[in-house]
Amino acid sequence: MESQVNLKIAFTISCLAVVSILLANILRKQRNRKQNISSCYLKSEAKPQHNFKRVLANNSYAPFKHLKLDESSSDLHPYESEIKAMLEESRLEFEFSCGNMDMRMNDEYIWVDNESKLKGLVEVLSKERVFAVDTEQHSLRSFLGFTALIQISTRDEDYLVDTIAVHDNMGILDPVFANPNICKVFHGADNDVIWLQRDFHIYVVNLFDTAKACDVLSKPQRSLAYLLETFCGVTTNKIYQREDWRQRPLPIDMVEYARMDAHYLLYIADRLVSELKNQKNENSAGLDDKLHFVSEASRRSNALCLQLFTKDLEAIPGQSAAASIISRYLNDHGNATNNSQFQDLVRRLCSWRDLMARMHDESLKYVLSDNAIVSLAEKVPSTPTDICTSISQADIDVEFHNCNSSSLFPSSVVLSHLDDFPYLLKNETINLDDIFQLILKKHLGPNGSCPFSLYNYSLLSKTNIKLSKSSALKENGFKFSKQVARNVSRELFVQKFSCKSPVYHNCRIYANDGRLLCYCDRRKLEWYLQRDLAKLVDEDPLAIMLLFEPKGRPEDEGNDFYIQSKKNICVGCGEGNHYLRYRIIPSCYRIHFPEHLKSHRSHDIVLVCVDCHEKAHSSAEKYKKKVALEFGIPLFVHKVVNSKEEHNVSGSSTSIMNLGDGGVSPLELRTAAMALIRHGPRMPPHRRDELKQVVKKYYGGRDISEEDLEKALLVGMSPHEKRRLQKKRGISLNNTSSKNIVSEMDIKGNNVDPAINKNEAYEPENGCNLDFMSPSEPNRPVHVSSDGAVFATCSSKLSLLGHGPHGKQVVDYLLKNHGENGIQEFCQRWRQVFVESINPRFLPAGWDVAHSGRREFGEFSVYNPANRAFVAAEDQGKQHPAVV
Ligand code: AMP
Ligand code: ZN
Ligand code: MN
Repeated sequence: MESQVNLKIAFTISCLAVVSILLANILRKQRNRKQNISSCYLKSEAKPQHNFKRVLANNSYAPFKHLKLDESSSDLHPYESEIKAMLEESRLEFEFSCGNMDMRMNDEYIWVDNESKLKGLVEVLSKERVFAVDTEQHSLRSFLGFTALIQISTRDEDYLVDTIAVHDNMGILDPVFANPNICKVFHGADNDVIWLQRDFHIYVVNLFDTAKACDVLSKPQRSLAYLLETFCGVTTNKIYQREDWRQRPLPIDMVEYARMDAHYLLYIADRLVSELKNQKNENSAGLDDKLHFVSEASRRSNALCLQLFTKDLEAIPGQSAAASIISRYLNDHGNATNNSQFQDLVRRLCSWRDLMARMHDESLKYVLSDNAIVSLAEKVPSTPTDICTSISQADIDVEFHNCNSSSLFPSSVVLSHLDDFPYLLKNETINLDDIFQLILKKHLGPNGSCPFSLYNYSLLSKTNIKLSKSSALKENGFKFSKQVARNVSRELFVQKFSCKSPVYHNCRIYANDGRLLCYCDRRKLEWYLQRDLAKLVDEDPLAIMLLFEPKGRPEDEGNDFYIQSKKNICVGCGEGNHYLRYRIIPSCYRIHFPEHLKSHRSHDIVLVCVDCHEKAHSSAEKYKKKVALEFGIPLFVHKVVNSKEEHNVSGSSTSIMNLGDGGVSPLELRTAAMALIRHGPRMPPHRRDELKQVVKKYYGGRDISEEDLEKALLVGMSPHEKRRLQKKRGISLNNTSSKNIVSEMDIKGNNVDPAINKNEAYEPENGCNLDFMSPSEPNRPVHVSSDGAVFATCSSKLSLLGHGPHGKQVVDYLLKNHGENGIQEFCQRWRQVFVESINPRFLPAGWDVAHSGRREFGEFSVYNPANRAFVAAEDQGKQHPAVV
């Protein structure tokens, strides 16, 4: 006993010494930074969950949205009826492990960390009748916690699913988990069932929980460790439960532990089921007893599946934690003096902690421990040093007992936001709501100190927080939220659309005489290397030398542009933190260019930041209108009419009319039909009539039905747009004969060229930056039409809703009247528009408004007219040696 006390004293002293030295350092650094501006640690710390693109449970105060299988099921479990059916009728008619499971765990397991491996797993699982599952969670550095690993074992294999790597793809496991014909064996599934809903919308149907079986059998213990030991003779160490399961690579002992949690479950389930079958019901010995125990275990298991994940919501954030801290404190200390100030501070600190934890996606415990809150509220320290010391001291006490010295210091949340404490600890009555608003404004508001994420942005829609009427912040509240909304949408736009990795790899390609030919990305180098067309000459940075004689050299042709390395920054303002690709020649024109003129993408696709993008885009839209006027080709299709009404042919088709011929513009038609479908019954009658007139114009004036409205939605859409809409609106549209409407659509008797290069319109994210060497994108199927034009096979008809038809007509006109020179000149005009819109100061050297990029094509090039026949003969997906 005495030695324990001594030990504790020694431990505390040494910890305090370390703490004070480190604290002094940290605080000095903080002071050296600009006063008053707190810099959030999250700006430099990367957490794995920030790479997730699909987050189902965010940290807002709004309730969790469960999977909705159909419109009617509101807050119900999506698989309620399936689970209830299982409750009524147990289906354990099969063996789990065939009884003769070879239990020894060998060294082999399958680590699932990408989409294709996950698909493979789904394929395997959908053929199984039963598999075992366990999950590992991470909860310290996350507000709601997240699944860091899922272990799945079949009779033959152990799978470890890296749910951090494949987080966004996990949905493809939904069907096997919800399939009532496949039994899922868990041990103690209470939490796993809910966690799977929270992170992946995975709902378990048909569960056998070995812990529930233990209950039914009245086993002396129900832990997995006990079952492993008694049935399998293996011991397991549960301290791994509390390890950091985010670690990658996962240490080998954690891998072993994780596998063990699922590997033996099928065998254990088997043994338990046979015990259940052999149980004799003492009261009524009869044939049904066997079934009785088995089905009771199954019933109790499946009852767990009916649970639904919910977020804990409270009227005033943090206040249930405050209440329990205060009541515990009063229990231990009796009614101390200064009680009301103490309680007030605890409530404020809890409110702050709750909001900060949500904002930074950290657990409450990580942000500030209960003990630290008590200590701060007791001592009311005023200097940063005293604040930090109070927190560390409080935590040392706890850590000593837990033998875990991982968090001896104030958390990074506290350290980088120390300047919140003076007003939190001020002995003044401040309304909790006001504190809340202040923190929100200071940290997430415009110019807030902390970054936005998928977890915290919806905190700004404070729908579930009671806002104080007296709040002084309310006056400018409106302006604030509008500003904030703009900020959020910009931030999310950047996250969603900016390039995720550097666009320019600046790998070099040399000619066989050692002259630099160009810079390009890694993919292109690999293309040459794999085909033995080049050899590697430098590894860092990568460089290759071509093994054949390229046709022409860039400098011979004045194409200096291609021998410049390019910076991954906005060409407008030099911003380097985020950038997206910008197409200087708008796609509506470019996709109709002859293929060989499209080959200068790297010159006419540049990187810009969101702000420059906005400016350049809006100038381009204005210039399109000028082009429309100049060429007399409208930006939008003006009128369409359903020709079935006129010609009375079977199946309907849409014709494009000249102005004044009746009919209606496809955009107008679509908007009217959508409004009628959505709000028709609730509209004022005169408005409804107006809209109906619009739709009737399309149908030649006749009365219209609900089905006509649905069909009208599809008018003018490209097949791609149609598919998207149909997916969104579900099956209802599949029933209408939409195929008919679309497939017969036509523009002004001009045949709509079905051969629009789809890849060109949806450029791959990591597209090459250089077309000088090989204009064809790897994996791009290329075909040749009868008139010699090269185009991709993925055909798509033009959408009448966008600028596609305008673009096509403009390009056709240019080619017809001015040939390729017309196109070149047209491109130069667009470069000029771009330059004038943002005055780019960081364009790569060699970039030129007058860039012609005219050059000859190499003997391998798909753009070489001589090769076109060869190209056409090739298989669609086959690679062509596209070369200089
Ligand atoms: P298990 O079902 O034993 O595999 O545990 C699954 C997850 O629950 C672990 O990864 C932990 O995150 C969490 N967990 C279970 N028991 C504890 C515990 N005693 N303390 C902390 N976390 C636990
Ligand atoms: Zn922060
Ligand atoms: Mn486990």
